[in-house]
Amino acid sequence: MTLPARELLDDCVHCGFCLPTCPTYVLWGQETDSPRGRIHLMKLRRDGRESNPQSFVKHIDTCLGCMACVTACPSGVQYDSLLEAARPEVERIANRSIGDRLFRRAIFEMFPHPARLRWMAWPLGVYQNSGLRALVHKSGVLKLFPERLRAMERLLPPISFAALRRTMPAHVAADGPARRRVGLLLGCVQRVFFGDVNAATARVLAAEGCEVFIPQDQGCCGALAEHAGEEQDAINSAKRLIDAFDKIDVDTIVINAAGCGSAMKRYGHLLRKDPVYAERAKAFAAKCRDISEVLAELEPRAPRGRVDMRVAYHDACHLQHAQGVRVQPRTLLQGIPGVEVREVAESEICCGSAGIYNMLEPEAATQLRDRKVANILRTEPDAILSSNPGCLLQIATGFDKAGRHVPVMHLVELLDRSITLGKSPITQSPITQSSSNHPIPNH
Ligand code: SF4
Ligand code: SF4
Repeated sequence: MTLPARELLDDCVHCGFCLPTCPTYVLWGQETDSPRGRIHLMKLRRDGRESNPQSFVKHIDTCLGCMACVTACPSGVQYDSLLEAARPEVERIANRSIGDRLFRRAIFEMFPHPARLRWMAWPLGVYQNSGLRALVHKSGVLKLFPERLRAMERLLPPISFAALRRTMPAHVAADGPARRRVGLLLGCVQRVFFGDVNAATARVLAAEGCEVFIPQDQGCCGALAEHAGEEQDAINSAKRLIDAFDKIDVDTIVINAAGCGSAMKRYGHLLRKDPVYAERAKAFAAKCRDISEVLAELEPRAPRGRVDMRVAYHDACHLQHAQGVRVQPRTLLQGIPGVEVREVAESEICCGSAGIYNMLEPEAATQLRDRKVANILRTEPDAILSSNPGCLLQIATGFDKAGRHVPVMHLVELLDRSITLGKSPITQSPITQSSSNHPIPNH
């Protein structure tokens, strides 16, 4: 049994301060779908007092793992550690249908494997770019498919064949004297579908005086597996990634996907019982930084060009709650001349993406997405920025449904654009592209 430790469960004093920030409690108003209720269910299971184990499964399954409750809790309850221990227990006892098991397995056989994703992306690109997708949507045939498959289809990222062929070099030299040696994580979905974001990240780091090293044999960080309770898969991925990055001698490991960053910063905890990797994992985790943390630590060196636009910045849960990074992205945006940052109401509440949650629990994810999109649209932004590919896709599908075209892009893409304009300030370029539906071309 892998249930959470009794002393961690006892930290909860049932005050309820976390309730208004918990997305599932906000949606359904049920105690069992709140952090406090889920902790109570964990206690019942630990004490052998629960009447229905499948109720424990159901309410842990509906948890997004967004960690808004960790930010809100005044008693320092470590819900992240509680959930990390509860999820493998759920996988052990869950009475799942064959269809459910197959769907989950298919996700884990696909998403953490960039080579497989890349092969799949070609036929999907043909489906998307040939007009077939538009025909399928028009025909209404998708209504015949289960909601989970429809959700997957909706979330299909924009596929560019040129981007699919692109690879990242092993080394990018700093512009001018190097002031830091960094390693760059490429991610799985990020490297296949959002290669432009990785390219922009390397350019911005180089422009700011970082020498960038990119291990070519790096695999998945294990975030998806860890968030879904597939503990052994997560441990294996973490060990492989540590091995890949230990071959390069860097001060910092830079991550541009919030979900990956939150998992990698917890490697010390994940591998704490491993006699070979425990110390290496701790040292590795201490080097991990989100791209916004790294850039905010460095005194800006590259001149920023003017970009006149109102932007809404969407805080990814795995950045704001799991990593406590909220200030740095705003500081960077405020450093771009002409940019006005608009705050989104209910910014602490998840957009419904949450790793693979929007595929496993599409109804709840869609309700949260529509709520988020309505809040974003109230700010009347010229573009919406975030630091996580999953959030960008989720929000883009919400804009599509609302019939609004608002460019959606990674924070680093806007910085890259500003720095490029700063190098040759001929004219200001209007931002009309988005990483979700119109990738920003390389400069
Ligand atoms: S992680 Fe998010 S969804 Fe889960 S209990 Fe905490 S606030 Fe609620
Ligand atoms: S998790 Fe924290 S905020 Fe929520 S009820 Fe328990 S002690 Fe209160």
